[in-house]
Amino acid sequence: MNRAAFDTALDAARACYDAIPALKAFVDWPDDLTFQRRAPHSLPLIPHLRADPATTSPVTTPLRDALVALCDHVEWRHTYTEAEVGADFLNRYGWFELAGPETGHYRSQTARLSVAYWGAGLHYPWHHHAAEEIYLVVAGEARFEAEGEAPRTLRAGETQFHRSNQPHAMTTGTSGLLAFVLWRGEALSAPPKMGRAA
Ligand code: ZN
Repeated sequence: MNRAAFDTALDAARACYDAIPALKAFVDWPDDLTFQRRAPHSLPLIPHLRADPATTSPVTTPLRDALVALCDHVEWRHTYTEAEVGADFLNRYGWFELAGPETGHYRSQTARLSVAYWGAGLHYPWHHHAAEEIYLVVAGEARFEAEGEAPRTLRAGETQFHRSNQPHAMTTGTSGLLAFVLWRGEALSAPPKMGRAA
């Protein structure tokens, strides 16, 4: 537990939120954040994140640097199984809940703020979830696909919105991708379901 590193990351996330209108329009910044002591959980992605933290935009550089500094202190998770995504994916992917209703490092009942990292050249298969979602690319770039929309390559500082239960997928390129992911609406704690059928 390193409270100062968490607060630095939260402040950097808030600064990105304040600078990017699509994030401010998506959800109010939670006003009920309460820090929780949670044991860190390491995953194999950490050395990949340190080795390839990827390219930022001026707006996202402080958040990337704060998240890299925090990476030994957070409860990294895998929601998926090797059967769903493969061993290489699990070796170079992970996410943690910076803020959320049940298992966030900060507790909030109004929004869920997560961070995820994927190494280079990974395909995140089609999946969907009831909560609405917006991704901010903090570092790196990736090709985002969403049902009914043309694929888009997003770079640092750009955002992608997903409707409730809109299937989506993502493929990283020659560098890793670090993303800040905001959820709103129903079922903030429900994990995504794999597959393209909503
Ligand atoms: Zn999603």
